[in-house]
Amino acid sequence: MAPLLLFVTVALVGLCVGSFLNVVIHRVPKMLERGWREQCAELSGTPLADEPAYNLLVPRSQCPACGHPIGALENVPVVSYLVLRGQCAACKATISARYPVVELLTATLTVAAVIKFGATPYALAACVLLWMLIALTFIDVDTQLLPDNLTLPLLWAGLLANVLGAVPDVSLRDAVVGAIAGYLTLWVVYWLFKLIRGKEGMGYGDFKLLAALGAWLGWKTLPLIVLMASAVGALIGMGLVMFKGRDHQIPLAFGPYLAVAGAIALFFGRPLIALYLPA
Ligand SMILES: [Zn+2]
Repeated sequence: MAPLLLFVTVALVGLCVGSFLNVVIHRVPKMLERGWREQCAELSGTPLADEPAYNLLVPRSQCPACGHPIGALENVPVVSYLVLRGQCAACKATISARYPVVELLTATLTVAAVIKFGATPYALAACVLLWMLIALTFIDVDTQLLPDNLTLPLLWAGLLANVLGAVPDVSLRDAVVGAIAGYLTLWVVYWLFKLIRGKEGMGYGDFKLLAALGAWLGWKTLPLIVLMASAVGALIGMGLVMFKGRDHQIPLAFGPYLAVAGAIALFFGRPLIALYLPA
């Protein structure tokens, strides 16, 4: 395929995946909450009344302000947002700019993966990893949750990608050790922090996300990811405290920093790892 045609196709696929990721980011936390409510009701012996189905496919998307169902033409990635000038077609309520931002970000990273890794199975695997990282980042920002039903499949997918030999420079052994070491590293930090400061500095979802990154990229990238995530997290955390008057007692979501560091390690890991682990 001619390179230009390939990149345009990949960008369009990226936009559509980004559109789906918006649904995932919006609905997965609500689906979890609903599951928890059902479990609580079941335990307390007062079952909830049957609610209409709510998952990634149904019901159809609708305007959160007026309930206007969003038709296919109003759901074209980025284009619809521009045509509608960021407003609901029915009630003119403002549509969050986050939707086109997620779509453009997904398309950009998808094209970047194909440029970096070529039209190879690894590019596809890298895209799966990047898409999941995007969903996890925004869910964590919104809700301070990294759902198990995303982090754990991501971990298994990383091990599977390495069983299939899809990730260059990472052996299956590196991947398995990476998954274990990723989890244990943050688990140890968590307990030290808890013993010394008497409070929780991060959540179990962070351990699972780092385990997943270790499973994908191998244990050698873990120091790089933890260092980058901590540095960026500390800078942004200090910035928020200094400039926005944010209470420094409120824990910051660490997941987005891990996810960004993981994406950087995916693209630029090899030369950076060579700095501390000469081959
Ligand atoms: Zn509306």
